[in-house]
Amino acid sequence: MKRLHCPICNSTEVYPIAGGYIGCIYRCKRCGYRGALVVEYNDEDEGRDGR
Ligand SMILES: [Zn+2]
Repeated sequence: MKRLHCPICNSTEVYPIAGGYIGCIYRCKRCGYRGALVVEYNDEDEGRDGR
C-alpha cells in the first residue's frame, strides 16, 4: 500500500482530487499545495529494521 506525502510540507494529508485529461492532481490539506507531483512511499519501506 502506498502513502502519499506532500513535497512542500511532507504531510500525509494528500488526496487525489482529479483524474481527467491532465492526469492525476493531488491536493494537500495542510498547506494547500495542489499539483501532480507528490512523494510516494511504500509502507514496506518504513518497516525494514532487520526483520
Ligand atoms: Zn503540504
